[in-house]
Amino acid sequence: MNVLEERILKDGIVKEGNVLKVDSFLNHQMDIQLFDDMGKEWKRRFEGKEINKILTIEASGIGIAVAVARHFNAPVVFAKKSKSINIDGDMYVAEVESFTHKTKNQVIVSKKFLGPDDHVLIIDDFLANGCALQGLISIANDAGATVEGIGIAVEKGFQVGGQVIRNLGFQLESLAIVDGMDAATGTITFRK
Ligand code: 5GP
Repeated sequence: MNVLEERILKDGIVKEGNVLKVDSFLNHQMDIQLFDDMGKEWKRRFEGKEINKILTIEASGIGIAVAVARHFNAPVVFAKKSKSINIDGDMYVAEVESFTHKTKNQVIVSKKFLGPDDHVLIIDDFLANGCALQGLISIANDAGATVEGIGIAVEKGFQVGGQVIRNLGFQLESLAIVDGMDAATGTITFRK
């Protein structure tokens, strides 16, 4: 069992609707030592890949991405959620449906910060149905950038996202894969 799995068992709370609450250490209060350990692990798993940019999505991905970026010596670019319909031509745009809020957002990245020379590691806190990742992949593709890999803190293995993304051929490295959880008992089981 790795440190993230141990921490999820200790402090994670299973909510109704297949939601795992990890806001005491991952996406509200943030344990930076844990993030640093996660960054070290992704650096090991993506050894040999030429990564020059970390791409994530606001808000929960940003803290993790920042800790990861120090291990890759690369800047972080985060896709911003935008309500505006008047997006000018200087932006890459993708539509992302939020799993937790059930709303659709346009996310944008400025063309200044992503382009054909970029070799990108995509980072996010959760993978559920894969909508957020598909949006980020689509932005990277529009920019002509290369997606070298994807690092996810918590993949919910019982939802389709992981399979969809792996079937697209990406190296997807999730540090904890939850195969089952039960709100009534609070039980969480991980993929071996
Ligand atoms: P997806 O787009 O893969 O369906 O969902 C991923 C996004 O939804 C993540 O960026 C994350 O913010 C949020 N999310 C999905 N499932 C959970 C969950 O169980 N707990 C929390 N806290 N966020 C989740």
